[in-house]
Amino acid sequence: MKILVTGGAGYIGCHTAHKLKNSGYQPVVLDNLVYGHKDSLRNAGITDHYIGDIGDCYLLRRIFAEHEIQAVMHFSAYAYVGESVCKPDLYYRNNVVNTIRLLDSCVEEGIKCFVFSSSCATYGVAQTEIIQESHAQNPVNPYGRSKLMVEQILKDYETAFGLNHVILRYFNAAGADPSGLIGEDHDPETHLIPLVLYAALGLRENIKIFGTDYNTPDGSCIRDYIHVNDLAHAHILGMKHSLEKRESLIFNLGNGKGYSVREVIEVCKKITKIDFPVIEEKRRAGDPPILVGSSRKINEVLGWEPEFPDLEKIISHAWTWHKKRHAID
Ligand code: UDP
Repeated sequence: MKILVTGGAGYIGCHTAHKLKNSGYQPVVLDNLVYGHKDSLRNAGITDHYIGDIGDCYLLRRIFAEHEIQAVMHFSAYAYVGESVCKPDLYYRNNVVNTIRLLDSCVEEGIKCFVFSSSCATYGVAQTEIIQESHAQNPVNPYGRSKLMVEQILKDYETAFGLNHVILRYFNAAGADPSGLIGEDHDPETHLIPLVLYAALGLRENIKIFGTDYNTPDGSCIRDYIHVNDLAHAHILGMKHSLEKRESLIFNLGNGKGYSVREVIEVCKKITKIDFPVIEEKRRAGDPPILVGSSRKINEVLGWEPEFPDLEKIISHAWTWHKKRHAID
């Protein structure tokens, strides 16, 4: 079965395309390579791929003509929270307008299932210790709002055009495939775990903690880190269920356990056995203090369970990848 994976040369898209391939599916990747990497496609063993934009309806028509696509997994998006505050136009144009173009092509082609990378950023500031899917969605930055807009559009497209969706609201994706072949490679990198590991590798002088005056036990922000392969697995389970039952689904994807920025840095120091300077900085714009998600619903409905719930394991896979990648460069 052929699955179109947009953004399949990016971090989560590439791990999912790799898992699809290893699970007997045929991923067809569409990526404009603005943030994705051709090397990732090669290392993930992806042979069917197109370089171009999700908003290019002519290219989409060609892909749908050349492949009998059964479902679409949509990963392409700009995903820098800080940048989205300064450049909202970019985020709404790419994440919302271009997604509408992609959705229109899906409707035109009679696609039955659309799997969407949404985000815990759609919730905004948590009102409960652990966020359930029913939690109010009041995003506090344009990135989160762009994801929420697409969620709402998907519900309207289901009602009007019968396009079923699987919305997956990720908490913080982290780690790398245990093979060490593919992993996280953003440019610029803004995410905590890779930046801490860059400090351990001596690729940066220090790691900065953005905000030490939050109302949390150690004053730094708390996040729920989930292994990228566990995310990838959830996409496949969700798609299968939606195609079989012809229904739409919405799930959180987290481990239900939060770690502060200070704790993440300590675990990185433990795994790498390397010490490096840690600097306390002021808060970063758009950061909610605590985001921890319950994945009980996806466990109950799809039987999903994380294979790598342990933060040390997540960071050790990321460490294997970053060491290998930077030794090669
Ligand atoms: N963070 C930090 N220093 C950094 C990068 C991130 O203190 O150099 C913090 C950030 O403010 C947030 C947490 O680490 O509280 C996770 O940030 P990341 O960018 O990895 O993911 P986000 O939660 O923004 O999606």
